[in-house]
Amino acid sequence: MGAFFAMHDPNTVQDSPNEAASTDVVIIGAGPVGLFAVFECGMLKLHCHVVDALDAIGGQCVALYPEKPIFDIPGYPRIEAANLIGQLAEQAAPFHPAYHLGQQVVRLTRTSDGFTVETSKGTVINCRAVIIAGGSGAFGPNRPPLDGLERYENKSVFYLVKRRQDFAGKRIVIAGGGDSAVDWAVSLAEIAAHVMVVHRRDKFRAAPESVRRMRELTAAGKIEMVVPYQLSGLEGPDGQLTGVRVETLDGVERVLDADILLPFFGLAMELGPIADWGLDLAGGHITVDPATAATSLPGVFAIGDIAAYPGKLKLILTGFAEAAIAAHSAFAVARPGEALHFEYSTSKGVPADAGAPS
Ligand SMILES: Cc1cc2nc3c(=O)[nH]c(=O)nc-3n(C[C@H](O)[C@H](O)[C@H](O)COP(=O)(O)OP(=O)(O)OC[C@H]3O[C@@H](n4cnc5c(N)ncnc54)[C@H](O)[C@@H]3O)c2cc1C
Repeated sequence: MGAFFAMHDPNTVQDSPNEAASTDVVIIGAGPVGLFAVFECGMLKLHCHVVDALDAIGGQCVALYPEKPIFDIPGYPRIEAANLIGQLAEQAAPFHPAYHLGQQVVRLTRTSDGFTVETSKGTVINCRAVIIAGGSGAFGPNRPPLDGLERYENKSVFYLVKRRQDFAGKRIVIAGGGDSAVDWAVSLAEIAAHVMVVHRRDKFRAAPESVRRMRELTAAGKIEMVVPYQLSGLEGPDGQLTGVRVETLDGVERVLDADILLPFFGLAMELGPIADWGLDLAGGHITVDPATAATSLPGVFAIGDIAAYPGKLKLILTGFAEAAIAAHSAFAVARPGEALHFEYSTSKGVPADAGAPS
């Protein structure tokens, strides 16, 4: 995903934990709706910083279905989700948004003239207004409930494969029954010393062709199927695995000799810290006034999947319209007393000084 981002936009910021940045608007969430909000704010000469917990822009489109075609984006009879994000990044680029990726917004504090936003990596941004485009919340891997798991994480337990070659010659346990588990079992079988696939049943929810290939490699002795088993424990000193304990529902135990565990149990989406900021919520969503995108906290707006109001349709196109509304509302907060004359983009074009941070 990092490579995807690099292809589409160069404005990632190297965060300096000691210096606070200042901007007009902080957008929380770099999904399709957050990205379009950068454009809409930019057209009103509002500069934006965008924060996302993922290490790539694109939200659900890139994290969950990058290659699926979308058919209900106005003007595109068909567009692959990742390409839509590429187009949105291009549309936002003239406004030079600063992207802070791989960090969750953990704190929102009101100041005398706006807000301070703080992230899990210590980035601090002062702003006049906040637009929350957080979708269903921050994404993170579903972590298996194993004692002492955190000691092994990022040493010998990984939730994604960043560099395939790092796993060459290793004894690898892959846990899960979806596309990631099956695809990586097939791919790593070529370079690993041994690949074991732990799944609670002998049915896989993955592309049939990939499952067929995995079974072929199993028959050839390149992959070992450990079914029907579930993870039950980890063994090894100082975060370095030597074995992965598994057991059946009937309590039959095995220890698999292993150097690496790759649990692929999908992504969890949680509202996370947003739930603690005093916003009015309804069923895990932020209640807004659809006429303004205003939340119950003055100066904080919410758009896209996370925003709720009667009749809300959770569609990308709905979020785009909400982004335009929120940008106009944020203008009134960021530029108090300045008149805003409604203009079509055909009349004003993309402002020549687009992107000059305020
Ligand atoms: C398989 C699938 C197919 C779909 N097909 C269609 C379709 O055909 N048409 C359509 O219109 N819609 C479709 N959707 C729905 C569409 O993807 C969503 O409506 C859209 O992604 C919502 O965009 P968003 O920007 O509001 O939120 P998201 O795309 O969910 O992005 C939100 C981002 O906010 C980040 N975030 C949340 N909280 C924080 C925080 N505290 N700090 C930092 N970052 C945070 C998250 O990490 C995430 O990246 C589909 C969805 C799925 C899963």
